[in-house]
Amino acid sequence: MDANDSQASLDFVRTIVAEDLETGKWDGRVVTRFPPEPNGYLHIGHAKSICLNFGIAAEFDGTCHLRFDDTNPQKEEQEYVNSIIEDVHWLGWDWGEHFYYGSDYFEQMYEYAVQLVKAGKAYVCDLTAEQIREYRGTLTEPGRDGPHRSRSAEENLDLFERMRKGEFPDGSRTLRAKIDMAHPNLNMRDPVMYRILHAEHHRTGDKWCIYPMYDWAHGLEDSVEKITHSICTLEFENHRPLYDWFLDELGAYHPQQIEFARLNLSYTVMSKRKLLRLVQDGHVTGWDDPRMPTISGLRRRGYSSAAIREFCKRIGVNKFNSTVEMALLDHCLRQDLNKTSPRVMAVLRPLKVVIDNYPEDQAEELDAINNPEDPEARTRKVPFSRELYIERDDFMEDPPRKFFRLAPGREVRLRYAYFITCTDVVKDDAGNIVELHCTYDPATKGGDAPNGRKVKATLHWVSAMHALGADVRLYDTLFTKENPDDAPEDQDFTANLNPNSLETISARIEPSVAGAKPLTRYQFERLGYFCTDTESSKERLIFNRTVTLRDTWAKIQKAQKT
Ligand code: ATP
Ligand code: MG
Repeated sequence: MDANDSQASLDFVRTIVAEDLETGKWDGRVVTRFPPEPNGYLHIGHAKSICLNFGIAAEFDGTCHLRFDDTNPQKEEQEYVNSIIEDVHWLGWDWGEHFYYGSDYFEQMYEYAVQLVKAGKAYVCDLTAEQIREYRGTLTEPGRDGPHRSRSAEENLDLFERMRKGEFPDGSRTLRAKIDMAHPNLNMRDPVMYRILHAEHHRTGDKWCIYPMYDWAHGLEDSVEKITHSICTLEFENHRPLYDWFLDELGAYHPQQIEFARLNLSYTVMSKRKLLRLVQDGHVTGWDDPRMPTISGLRRRGYSSAAIREFCKRIGVNKFNSTVEMALLDHCLRQDLNKTSPRVMAVLRPLKVVIDNYPEDQAEELDAINNPEDPEARTRKVPFSRELYIERDDFMEDPPRKFFRLAPGREVRLRYAYFITCTDVVKDDAGNIVELHCTYDPATKGGDAPNGRKVKATLHWVSAMHALGADVRLYDTLFTKENPDDAPEDQDFTANLNPNSLETISARIEPSVAGAKPLTRYQFERLGYFCTDTESSKERLIFNRTVTLRDTWAKIQKAQKT
């Protein structure tokens, strides 16, 4: 990255952490955490939170915990836990020994609840979910006290213990905090702490039939782990008074909660619920479909973790919700891939070229530079022979004025090879061009004419007899609208799915890529960055187009500067 690409100054969260270190607020400790609920795969929005939490721990010599917030037994699966572990590691972060599950604290949470019951700060309520909603009131109307609010501590304790023992059916009772049914903040109107749910949990099995609600559990998890800075997204700002109330009533360790704006990206959706819908309804092939904004999807598409981390740095952290251009992510990606991806030649839409004056039984190996951006750039051999493929787009029979590539009678350079001149165009009965005939100038070997003769275009190419076949998947945005939620009234975000988000073509590619392992990145000269798919093999090469070479972000920036 060039210097002004990176952010130098501290964001508001880091400023708080730095100040706390200075004042000794936490005795010099910095402990953050990333607390995903294992109910889906991580997406690029999570990457922002991950880079913030792990980044702060790394910069301030602290620790960052990975904690699975697995308090809801119904949606959580081991598959999600495994994918999250893989993704955080791949992004380049490590939690060391600080790996936790919220469910590890179920017993402790229960004891805390008993403490509140005994203190008259929590009660068992027999209202149904719907009744609870009715009693709660609205933003403009206060709620009303329910009929069970005045139960004695003894009765509450007895009922709560029996809830735990499994004496009552699902949904028949809840444990609620006794705060204030007329509180202006709805979260404070006696929120539910526990519900009855006879459900198997992925880690605790059938040990529990009461499960803590998120708002009860979350602050306790941070408290138990002695987190110093509990960093979360803005939606939790008006939950903070409740977390404060719980911890103050319990007299428990009390982290500082700091809210920041979540990441929204154009042309995609970011809620796990919606991503799950895309997977379940078959709009994509899975969580790691290369069109998905998931970390696993981006990885499979060919995005590097360095680019994602740089993107997170560039977007910064603030308090205002906004939508970031996908073009910025791709700009970070191109900058990284430009330096790290070896170049190869591939032809996506092949047009055959026969070099009439090149001997039929001859082939030769020409030197090609692997990566001109690499100071130690090595070269490789690319085979050349009488029959080649060039890109269909690189030829026009009747070219307009500004088209400088191949045309009848015109000379162009074949990269690393020779100058060729088009002498004849062969068509099928329907008038489609099927083959070109050309001559080459042996004196231009390597791509330069000895007499300084110039050509206006350089084309990529492959040798027909040496090239490998490959399936190449070209992607467009998953949605046609910047904001996919902007759908017609009776429809949802899926109405804006892009029917042309995937096109698969058969390409020809130089033989040096033979045996490339899955997730190997290349720049296909003049075409873009491509990456072998996770299912690519020696027998069947499959490439995903990561991104084209056209950097729309750099263009926008340039236009704004001038
Ligand atoms: P979603 O809204 O996608 O369903 P979530 O917030 O329910 O996500 P969690 O597993 O609870 O998902 O998220 C773990 C952490 O990631 C939380 O601290 C949350 O604040 C953060 N996070 C989730 N989405 C984003 C986002 N778009 N931008 C920044 N941080 C996010
Ligand atoms: Mg959540």
